[in-house]
Amino acid sequence: MSHSIGTVCVQGGYTPGNGEPRQIPIIQSTTFRYTTGEAMGKLFDLEESGYFYSRLQNPTCDTVAAKICELEGGSAAMLTSSGQAASFLSVFNIASCGDHIVSSASIYGGTYNLFAVTMKRMGISFTFVDPDCTEEELNAAFRPNTKAVFGETIANPALTVLDIEKFAKAAHAHGVPLIVDNTFATPVNCRPFAFGADIVTHSTTKYMDGHGAAVGGCIVDSGKFDWGAHAEKFPGLCTPDESYHGVTYIERFGLGGAYITKATAQLMRDFGTVQSPQNAYLLNLGLESLHVRMKRHCENGEAVAKFLESSDRVAWVNYPSLPSSPYYERAKKYLPHGSCGVVSFGVKGGREAAQRFMSRLKIAAIETHVADARSCCLHPAGTTHRQMNEEELAAAGVPGDLVRFSCGLEDASDLIEDIRQALE
Ligand SMILES: *Cc1c(COP(=O)(O)O)cnc(C)c1O
Repeated sequence: MSHSIGTVCVQGGYTPGNGEPRQIPIIQSTTFRYTTGEAMGKLFDLEESGYFYSRLQNPTCDTVAAKICELEGGSAAMLTSSGQAASFLSVFNIASCGDHIVSSASIYGGTYNLFAVTMKRMGISFTFVDPDCTEEELNAAFRPNTKAVFGETIANPALTVLDIEKFAKAAHAHGVPLIVDNTFATPVNCRPFAFGADIVTHSTTKYMDGHGAAVGGCIVDSGKFDWGAHAEKFPGLCTPDESYHGVTYIERFGLGGAYITKATAQLMRDFGTVQSPQNAYLLNLGLESLHVRMKRHCENGEAVAKFLESSDRVAWVNYPSLPSSPYYERAKKYLPHGSCGVVSFGVKGGREAAQRFMSRLKIAAIETHVADARSCCLHPAGTTHRQMNEEELAAAGVPGDLVRFSCGLEDASDLIEDIRQALE
């Protein structure tokens, strides 16, 4: 029953019966037929499970969600239209106007904007903490209305490694779950549930797809957080939902199903941030080789990081698997098989030198994208993080000279040669 991660990457989520397609079918249908109105009514009351409209659920998307669920070791999962949608729904499913979230300050720029600007406008406030703060500092960030803690396993682009156990401990001491964005590590390199995280999110756009083909996201629930033990904090899960004839999610669906069912039945219904079946199919093709590709991404990342460290034109290098990294010990614990293919470094000469260096690269393209089969690079302070002032940039671990270099699947020797000529 429980296979190793590589086997799940290839075969998880789908077992065809006799004479059925070997590859997952793309169910390109918005709707599903029923022979009686009563049968369909039961679906609308969540009394029975089944498909009726692809804005809520689609069989192709569910097959791929089931694979990611198995990869993370979770109890339930759902695909979303993007990583941003996954981050938003994962928090909004348990927090509403007047609530508060504790988040690591070292997170993806788009997530920071979502939290600090857009969700703030919805009345949800955020306290951003230094991911390397002491336990006392972390505990001091909580308020009576705190509903969750959020962090990234390996932060994009700062590459800080989250002390998942420390964050989980603080979250649980305050009766709230830890949500971890596991995009950069992928379940091949880290499974946050094993360290106490309760919910995992992904931008599947990155390594999971891996070929720059489809924007997507995913939310996985561990099924371990006891919502009922903190029922006063989570009325959405623990009191009747009038839009479904008084269903109480934790009673009807248990700890393993309540969170994802609510996110699907309420939030997907209302926001409609669904992944298309076509994109889910493409995502699944990527997942089939995730374990093979991650190994190569990490080998290339390590080789490039070592080369950069030896260059006198480079001011500093940050790669969690380098012994010189402040996160080396933590990476050994949380990421023993490797971290990711992304290396960040500072080009001597600051912002301008960083831009000049990037424009001279021949293999790596300048792109907003990251974690792709083709190497690419980005100057975050001038693009994804340009909304932040110098102070916020420093807190997010994104200095002005930082170049984020995403090592693809090319040969490391060619990548290094390209970087060498661009630096010179
Ligand atoms: C890209 C990214 C996101 C946002 O995902 P999209 O698929 O672009 O919406 C969220 N978190 C991390 C860590 C990311 O790298």
